[in-house]
Amino acid sequence: MSKKNYDVTGYIRQRFFPQMWCPGCGHGTVLGSLLRAVKELDLDKNEIVMTSGIGCSSRISGYVDFHSLHTIHGRALAFATGVKLSKPSLTAIVPMGDGDALAIGGNHFIHAARRNIDITAIVMNNRIYGMTGGQFSPLSGPGKRATTAPYSTIDRNFDVVDLSVSAGATFVARSTVYHPQESIDLIKRAIRHKGFSVVEILSQCPTHFGRKNKVGGAVEMLEYYKQRTVKIGSKKLEKDPTLIQRGIFVDNSEVPEYCDAYDLVIEKAMKGKR
Ligand code: SF4
Repeated sequence: MSKKNYDVTGYIRQRFFPQMWCPGCGHGTVLGSLLRAVKELDLDKNEIVMTSGIGCSSRISGYVDFHSLHTIHGRALAFATGVKLSKPSLTAIVPMGDGDALAIGGNHFIHAARRNIDITAIVMNNRIYGMTGGQFSPLSGPGKRATTAPYSTIDRNFDVVDLSVSAGATFVARSTVYHPQESIDLIKRAIRHKGFSVVEILSQCPTHFGRKNKVGGAVEMLEYYKQRTVKIGSKKLEKDPTLIQRGIFVDNSEVPEYCDAYDLVIEKAMKGKR
């Protein structure tokens, strides 16, 4: 078996290291998986544009040596849509936290999915707002504690996969930071997919979610991903249907991609046809 070359230094801005994430944060593992996916696909960094909003996860755009836009909270997909429409040949990747993607950016998220624009959204789900101090997010779930819910939240949470599928995303997958090789494979599939792709990666925030909910540190949180997640359709689900499924939920290449569809409209307009 050939040994993989995992030297990804050509894809990072070394001047910004060491990175700013807390010890034990899962986001560095997601960055590692993303860089290895890009490396394995042998993508030219000058052909990649990364757009991010605000939050710990969004700092990724500063660390990669792609074209990058660190924009405003929740609007990364709106910026990415503009970039992609102006130059469809670029590979557009958007790393997002759970609040950035589905609270402040929720509207942009569902409409990007509905349009099926060729963007890869990586939702790094740690079920809390990390950077701003541990407020609960739309993915925290009922009974979880946060600085804004010291007696626990009563809000029900979205399921990222179900929401993405319902909104029309044509590639939808889930993994965890405990499964980096699986994450690499899913990110590669998502980038190659022509259409709106969502990869949810469960990623631990030991500093806020871990402490507030007394679930231990990074090791215990990783252990949770190991014990409480299974591949789609695993026999273990018969005994325990509450286990979280990992893998590819949707992979549909039949739906027209938005930039292609828009090109056809331009073509018609140029020919004066309605
Ligand atoms: Fe990671 Fe949480 Fe620290 Fe942010 S606050 S860097 S999400 S551990």
